[in-house]
Order: sequence, then C-alpha cells, then structure tokens
Amino acid sequence: MANTKYIFVTGGVVSSLGKGIVAASLAKLIQARGLRVTIQKFDPYINIDPGTLNPYEHGECYVTTDGHEADLDLGHYERFLNIPTTRANNITTGRIYQNVIKKERRGDYLGKTVQVIPHITDEIKRNVKLLGSNNEYDIVITEIGGTVGDIESLPFIESVRQLKWELGRNCMCIHLTYVPYIAAAGELKTKPTQHSVKQLQELGIQPDVLVLRTEHDLSMELRSKVALFCNVPKEAVFQSADVSTIYEVPLVLQEQGMDKYVLNYFGLEPGETPEMKPWREFLQLTKTASETIHIGLIGKYVELQDAYKSIDESLQQAAIYNHKLLKLEYISSEILTEDNVVTELAHLDGIIIAPGFGSRGIDGKLIALKYARQQNVPTLGICLGMQCMVIEFARNVLGYTDANSTEVNPSTTHPVIDIMDEQKNLHNYGGTMRLGSYECKLTPGSKVFEAYGKENISERHRHRFEFNSKYQKEFEEAGLSITGVNPHTNLVEVVEIANHKWFVGVQFHPEYQSTVINPNPLFMAFMKACINSNSK
Ligand code: GLN
Repeated sequence: MANTKYIFVTGGVVSSLGKGIVAASLAKLIQARGLRVTIQKFDPYINIDPGTLNPYEHGECYVTTDGHEADLDLGHYERFLNIPTTRANNITTGRIYQNVIKKERRGDYLGKTVQVIPHITDEIKRNVKLLGSNNEYDIVITEIGGTVGDIESLPFIESVRQLKWELGRNCMCIHLTYVPYIAAAGELKTKPTQHSVKQLQELGIQPDVLVLRTEHDLSMELRSKVALFCNVPKEAVFQSADVSTIYEVPLVLQEQGMDKYVLNYFGLEPGETPEMKPWREFLQLTKTASETIHIGLIGKYVELQDAYKSIDESLQQAAIYNHKLLKLEYISSEILTEDNVVTELAHLDGIIIAPGFGSRGIDGKLIALKYARQQNVPTLGICLGMQCMVIEFARNVLGYTDANSTEVNPSTTHPVIDIMDEQKNLHNYGGTMRLGSYECKLTPGSKVFEAYGKENISERHRHRFEFNSKYQKEFEEAGLSITGVNPHTNLVEVVEIANHKWFVGVQFHPEYQSTVINPNPLFMAFMKACINSNSK
C-alpha cells in the first residue's frame, strides 16, 4: 500500500478511560484483517522517558527490545498485537524538546527564532511519520496521552490539526469520551461528551469517530443525539461499555463494525470479517476456568494497581491457558516478619518476588524466600527478586550472615550481588541501566531449560547490579545452580535450586515478553508447578 494512513486517538472528559486499550483493540482488529499496523504513544510530560519516574507517578515502566524505558501502554500494544515495539513507539514532550534544542545548538535553524509552532510541532509531526516512512506499516495509530484541554498536550493537538489538514483522508481522529450515569436521575448524560468535542473543535480538530466509554449500554437514540451535536455520522459513534477483561474490547468493537468503518473511511477494502479464532478461544477459556490458583506477589508497591502490570497480565495469561482462575494477592514486603510469614503465605500455591530498586522492603522479601525455599513452595524471582534469592541463600545456607547486594549495603563483607563494571562510573541515571534484549544460554536438564524447551533464548532487561561470579562455585556446591548465562559476557541470568519443586530466579524480565497469543514459557512453567504443587 502506497500511502500510510494515520489514526490519532485523543481522550476527553476524564483521564483513565482506557485510550490505550481502545487503540490496541482497533489495531488488533485491523491486523486481523491482514494489514500491517503499529501503535505509538505520545506522552505530554517533560521527562525524556518514564525510566526515572517512580511507580507512584506512572505505574510500571515497560522496556522495549531495543532498550527503551517506556510507558506501560506499550505493554498493552504488544500483548494485543503480538509484535515488538521500539523507542520509536513512545515519545514524550521532553524528547521532542531535547531534539529541537539539539538542532538549535547545532545551528540547524539558521538564525531563526525557534518556536512551538512550527519547530516543536514539526518535530512532533516528524516523529508521527517516522513509523510510516519505511513502508513498513499500512496504518500507524498514535495515542495522545492526557485529556483534551490540558495545557501540556496542546502542541500535540496542534500537530494533529496540521496533519489532518495536510493528509486529508489519509488521516483520522478518534475521540474517546465518557458518558456518565447519574444514578439519582437514572439517566446517562451526553453533555460532557458534547463539551469535550466542542473543545477539540475549538482547537481546530473535527473528530471523525467517537468512542463513548460507559458503564451501561447506550441506546441508538442516545448515540444519534451525540452524532447530531458533534458533527459526526451516527455510524461513527461507537460504545465501549465495561467488560470483564480488557481482552474482550476488540470483539465488542468488532461487533459494532468499528474496524470496517475505519477502513472504509480510508477507502480500503475491509474484506471478510476475520474470525479471530485464537483470540476467541483464549476468551472462552477465561469463561470456562473454574478452579482458582492462589499466587502471592511480594513487592513494595502493593497498593498500586499498575505497578506490576506486565507481571499481572503474564500470570493471568498463564493461568487461563492452564484452565485456572488466577487469584493474585499483592503482599507488602514491608509487613512480612519471621513471626507472621506462615500466616501470610501458607495459603499460597506459588510466590513471585517482584523486581525493584533500593533497600525498602528487602528484608520482607528475604523472609518470604526463606519460607518458600524451606517449605518447597514454587517460587519465581524476577530481577531484584532473583538477586534476593541469591542473598537469602548466601545468608541462610552458606552462612554469610551479612551477605547483601551492594545496592543495599555498599560495605557488606559478602557482596554476592554487585554493581556491573560498565555501571561503575556512570553519573547519569536516565536510560543508562543494562536495558533491552540480551541473549541467554540455558543449561540442558534445568527447570528453566525445561520451561523454554530450548538452549538459546532472548529476554529483556533493566538492571545495574548482577550476580557476583566470584561466589559461583560456592553457591553451586551448596545447591543453588547457575542455569542461564549470557553467552558473550557470562553474566549470570538464571539461578535455581534443583532439589526443590520449582525455585527459579531470573535476572531478566520475562513479563515484557508475554502476549495473549504467545504466553511466556517461564510463566507457563511456573503456573504448572503451582498447579501440581496445589494438587498434591
Ligand atoms: N535494583 C536491581 C538492579 O538494579 C534490580 C532491578 C530490577 O529489579 N529491575 O540491578
């Protein structure tokens, strides 16, 4: 296809409407019709990327194959589309300004005054078009973070206005709004939607499609009313009512013909409506699973819904494919003590020790690990979780009572986890960790090898500290085996205890590579171990 088509997804009325899910769902439907599609997210904040942001601010930080620390919506894009994203899929205001300022310092603007319009908007437009430039995609969907009317997102909205003008029918704006239900009046209200569209129109953008988020079914009459007030055909007003899992959203939109409408708008032949069999089968499994599997996630951000988003989704997928309903309990590592550990953890079929940074909550993770190791509870340690497995083993099996990671105690006499050489002299914290995909070679016969069913794998990373190989021999002799290493640098990627039901720690993050169609093998193996352990 010669001309890449561009779809913008904006949001109005309130935040947290799930623009990312709607964008990913539409992309999924378009992909199922055989078109090549990708999604990018523009975030209006000034940080260069969310890598330096605390999970309290921004939820989980997702990592792309090329080592970009990205917004968690990219995780949704990958889980829906089953294709990897890169740094080109997530741009912030900070990055736009950084690029413009770099050009200004280089003298690229030839003495001109550098301004929001046209220089910032040109840079935004360049980034929108970058994904469409190599004829790699037929359709590029761009989600604009924030809510229309925010001061921060104005340059992005202005760029959408310009692109709509420049690209004509090759460009479309989908606006997502909210239709509240006023219980006292027993009525659904369209006024906020009308106002939000008016606001977009004031900024020069006429939306082409409206998606109304709602908790109740919206009548055709109500949708026609919205169409009338908002200058859109009534066939272009869709609803996205609350559903039990986000993975139902594509099917809900497909039933209403949203993907067909979008392709017709671009003059593309939609063809037969795809069956989406594997997707439907997955959803069917969510409905037929009846037995519950209890997993505990030990971490320090337990009150935050989004802090461990990808781990949560990976576990959901693994549970569903194993015909189980997941009951995931977030357990604060800060409340765990030797006295309460049995009461807190005894009912669990499996334990995950979460990734993280800094010393807060480490002690609780070590207490949970000692319990899981001694009681033979299936356990998966991810990144800091794996590092804690090493520390716990060093203290309680090797007898090095002050063993630690130098991240937590720089003067420990047994630095079993230590800073990587390449990280020692870094003074900048943004984007400087060991990030992105690296290869790992697994030991045949190990649990991790059994999980992946092959020797060479590649997973994504985000860390500064590593297993200290000076201790490798001692650990192996005492029963903690090294079963995965980077084949080029020998960095230890996987540790496990052979003499245990399932006790595996990974320096990498398997949760960044688990999709609905391709659940991650490590989560699948962990889940199987939990199920087997539960049935005994
Ligand atoms: N803080 C640890 C490190 O930097 C672990 C990081 C993580 O869990 N993502 O190595």
